[in-house]
Amino acid sequence: MIEFKTCSNCLECKPLEAFWLDNSNARDGRQPWCIACHEAYYLEHREHLLEVGRQWQAENAERMKEWNRSYYVENAEKIRRSESARYYANREEVIARRSAARAEHYNSPEAKAKREEEDRKREASAALKSTPEAQEKRRQELNAYNRDYHAANREAIRAKKKLYNEANKEKIAERRRLARLAKIAAEKGTEGTDGGN
Ligand SMILES: [Zn+2]
Repeated sequence: MIEFKTCSNCLECKPLEAFWLDNSNARDGRQPWCIACHEAYYLEHREHLLEVGRQWQAENAERMKEWNRSYYVENAEKIRRSESARYYANREEVIARRSAARAEHYNSPEAKAKREEEDRKREASAALKSTPEAQEKRRQELNAYNRDYHAANREAIRAKKKLYNEANKEKIAERRRLARLAKIAAEKGTEGTDGGN
């Protein structure tokens, strides 16, 4: 049996389903106005209702923020538990969804274009760095840097060198001796080659 109810606005008799639920109405648990009347009213007063809503939000923004904060603080443990329970119940699905979303993003034309653009930039910059001009420029920059560094730290470098030389006298003498021998050997070798030509 279908129950009917008369709308207190349009006075039409309509099935109960044409009225929204209203738990505060003890008689039939439905609102006095039918859905069509509510919707018509809403459309007619849309601008005004939106404005009222905006005003309420503006006036109560701080209070709502505070309410949300205190609700979260008071229920932090419960919220955390239910979130992690939900996470674990759907863990596989969540992981699968995330990795599918990642794969989809990775394969999207935008992401591909971005990767290609980055590759292009990297190659262009590498090509720029590897030209003889760029290498020469880099060499000159390094030379200039070394020159400036030495000029600015002349005394400190000299003092450090002196300390090192004093501490390594024998090693340095040995290195000089080996270098002399190497030079002599090289000269003899060159003479030998020259003789052959
Ligand atoms: Zn109505």
